Amino acid sequence: MNIFSRLESEVRGYIHSFPTVFKTAKNAVLVDEKNKHYIDFLAGAGTLNYGHNNPVLKQAAIDYLMQDGIVHGLDMATSAKKAFIETFEQYILKPRALDYKLQFTGPTGTNAVEAAIKLARNVTKRHNIIAFTNGFHGVSLGALSLTGNQKFREAAGVELGNVHHAAYAGYFGDDVDTIAMLDKLLTDRSSGVDLPAAIIVECVQGEGGLNTASMQWLKKLSTLCKQHKILLIVDDIQAGCGRSGSFFSFEKAEIYPDIVTLSKSLSGFGLPMSLVLFKPSLDIWKSGQHNGTFRGNNLAFVTATTAIQKFWADQKFQTELAQKSELVSSRLRHIVQKFPEAELTHRGRGLMQGVAFRNPDLADEVTTQAFNLGLVIETSGSRGEVVKLLPPLTIENETLEKGIDLLTQAIEQVVQDDTHAKTLSTQSKSMNKLQGAVS
Ligand SMILES: *Cc1c(COP(=O)(O)O)cnc(C)c1O
Repeated sequence: MNIFSRLESEVRGYIHSFPTVFKTAKNAVLVDEKNKHYIDFLAGAGTLNYGHNNPVLKQAAIDYLMQDGIVHGLDMATSAKKAFIETFEQYILKPRALDYKLQFTGPTGTNAVEAAIKLARNVTKRHNIIAFTNGFHGVSLGALSLTGNQKFREAAGVELGNVHHAAYAGYFGDDVDTIAMLDKLLTDRSSGVDLPAAIIVECVQGEGGLNTASMQWLKKLSTLCKQHKILLIVDDIQAGCGRSGSFFSFEKAEIYPDIVTLSKSLSGFGLPMSLVLFKPSLDIWKSGQHNGTFRGNNLAFVTATTAIQKFWADQKFQTELAQKSELVSSRLRHIVQKFPEAELTHRGRGLMQGVAFRNPDLADEVTTQAFNLGLVIETSGSRGEVVKLLPPLTIENETLEKGIDLLTQAIEQVVQDDTHAKTLSTQSKSMNKLQGAVS
């Protein structure tokens, strides 16, 4: 028994999918203690958009430490924080004509979500929040109440209340207008749904299976929120920072959410950092009313500032990102056609795409097989039916292609084994029949 299973809690998750001890990593390649190399299509669940140990970000962090820069400063003003806010305003907010105030929360995504819904409830003096089916927003109690997945919810130990779950885009198939349904629930004073403080949405559902809302659906949602005077919160913790193709996942919908949460890839280096953005008129917080010892991880400010300067100051990165997304799309469409027996469907956008299997067991086997071949990739979705490609956005085209080759190989093996198993079972069934007839 190894030290992990002996001493570390059974709550461990990813270690079971990737049973090795990782030691070093660079951009999209992980290396384990036995010096086996793996292509990383998980990228810290979307935390490493700029790859592992990006040399420019690493150098900025090292320089800052060597100069005795402030590492921990509560929410005091520091030079590192100033540089981040200035850079964020210059390269992210201004070019997109977004007017937001910034609230740095505790370091993880769930902290940002808690702050966002607390603010929305305080501003509107309403208790209810509407979240969507298959949404994932974190596992602390407030965020958990917004999360759809039963596995996470049943661990709460208390009742999860004050949230109504509405049907996400496409939940009942493409023909059902889920915005019209929601509008009816909000308009009908006898629907039983209390007017919510906010509606929280992921434009692409990361953990929920790469379900994607169209720009039109998002526009309609935004209009609906305005009509009913409900705050719109976009949880961009996973789909943001470039993952879905643009810095914010809602950009192409041309909407202006009231509140936005960011975390995962915000620091750019895998350092914990979270941020809530909200319209200035919503800033009703009293000083120190919502706090946290680790608000403002200054080392993360340094890498976040450098990441924005390096990747978001001009169009180059986004152009390459669009090309890589198209490459993944076309290769996944090809995979869908190549294995008709697996009944695959193509999901997602940007560099958060994947394939959904009709049979979730096969998706699971594909990730196991992929790992054996040297590819780290996970499933998502309510039944774990979606194999999800989440490579660093900085992955070299060659490595990206190689990773998809390995994935194709893994699917091929699993599909062949499955067909073989099915043939065997039909053969043995007819054998049994034959034997029955003989005896
Ligand atoms: C990961 C995630 C969270 C929670 O972030 P943590 O850092 O794990 O607390 C919230 N919302 C979305 C959309 C996420 O993907």
